Amino acid sequence: DVVTRFAPSPTGMLHIGGARTALFNYLFAKHNNGKFLLRIEDTDRERSTPEATAAILEGMEWLGLTSDEPPVMQFERAPRHAEVAEEMIRRGTAFRCYATQEELQARRDLGEEKRKAAKAEGISEEEKASLLEEAHALLAPYRSPWRDGAPPPSPDAPYTVRLRAPESGERILEDGVQGTVRIQADELDDLILLRADGTPTYMLAVVVDDHDMGVTHIIRGDDHLRNAFRQIPIYEAMGWDIPFMAHVPMIHGADGAKLSKRHGALSTLAYRDMGYLPEAMRAYLLRIGWSHGDQEIFTDEEAVAAFDVSGINRAPGRLDLDKLGQVNSHFLRLASDERLFELLKPYWEEEAPIGEAESRLRAALPHMKDRGTTLPELAQAFAFLLTKRPLEMNKKARKAVAGEGLDRLRGLRNELQQLSDWTAEQISVTIASYCTAQGLSMGQIGPPLRAALTGGLPAPDIAPVLEWLGRDEALGRIEDQLA
Ligand code: GLU
Repeated sequence: DVVTRFAPSPTGMLHIGGARTALFNYLFAKHNNGKFLLRIEDTDRERSTPEATAAILEGMEWLGLTSDEPPVMQFERAPRHAEVAEEMIRRGTAFRCYATQEELQARRDLGEEKRKAAKAEGISEEEKASLLEEAHALLAPYRSPWRDGAPPPSPDAPYTVRLRAPESGERILEDGVQGTVRIQADELDDLILLRADGTPTYMLAVVVDDHDMGVTHIIRGDDHLRNAFRQIPIYEAMGWDIPFMAHVPMIHGADGAKLSKRHGALSTLAYRDMGYLPEAMRAYLLRIGWSHGDQEIFTDEEAVAAFDVSGINRAPGRLDLDKLGQVNSHFLRLASDERLFELLKPYWEEEAPIGEAESRLRAALPHMKDRGTTLPELAQAFAFLLTKRPLEMNKKARKAVAGEGLDRLRGLRNELQQLSDWTAEQISVTIASYCTAQGLSMGQIGPPLRAALTGGLPAPDIAPVLEWLGRDEALGRIEDQLA
């Protein structure tokens, strides 16, 4: 059975790149009727914070990427990680190494020194070659002298536990996105599994947790591609199945450069706060670096049905905020009246409770969903319904209700007052027949009427506006101008 996971480090917000990784893992699991799990990689105690964990969980919840089990907290599992390291020592696939930090640092320093020395002026070609060779050996991935069972320097000397790295030859990874990736085994060091203080390293923790959680497929950023070559020998050393791996190119900015703040917000929750819908964010993130034919927008059901690793592009996807706006508009139009009302309400109530305007807003909502790209923009389009009598008139509106405009408005008011059925249709008929009777064009009655009803704020067709306002409010607004 398929099990995927998202494994963020809680050192900051939920980055949109991380959110996309989570989405891919989520969709892959759901496509295969499998499980999607969440692991908080809080092993780095200095950089991990409870606030960051909370922010990540909040982001995941907003995006609707629910984990099928409670999140695994990596640090709590440290004893289990240590147990596996001990087991590897028993199996002979790991060993105790007594080199100290200082010795290792001295080795690196000496390597750098030799490299510099090789560049000095007046040095012979032979000398240079031998210095470079020495430098290379000193700076090469560390192979511990204790890997072959040399005794400890003293009985109680402190030690780290290291993996016995693969000897030589080529290491091959069949990656789901990158294809066949090869490195030379001698590029791998005897990597540390347990530090001298007994705490596990990140590399060990990831593998043990993925194994214990039953993870079968790992989809993550290609910044972890090299780590895969360090992790696979741990699986091998324990005789565990190696999960399928797919390393996805990072998201880039619209200009093709590495994604940074100047390209747009990087925090997933910032998009919530800007008024994007979670389903729009999902549909949008899905298409950054993944495609399926030429379909642009996917509903959740379509995404689950279509998602496969083969659709992930090898070239980095780009952030395109115009496209996000288009996708959001699409989903705003699809959102139910009730949900949209609840989402818009906080924006409407920023200044004052909506009170009796509620019925007008509810009447207009089904017809206004296409009037904004984000929630605040859409909320703003309803301003003409929220504004209070007597309306504040802008300059153009004031001019429209002066002189002749006012006389026409008075005449129309008298007709509208007679209306038994306050519907857009009846209102429209009334306006048309008033115009015919008075020999007026729509261009002569429209502006004063619109001005009286909206004070000059943008609004759609005038007959529905009258209907949404309701008889009392609409006639009252006209009355205010006549008084
Ligand atoms: N914790 C790692 C990160 O946030 C992810 C590790 C993984 O996916 O294997 O980059």
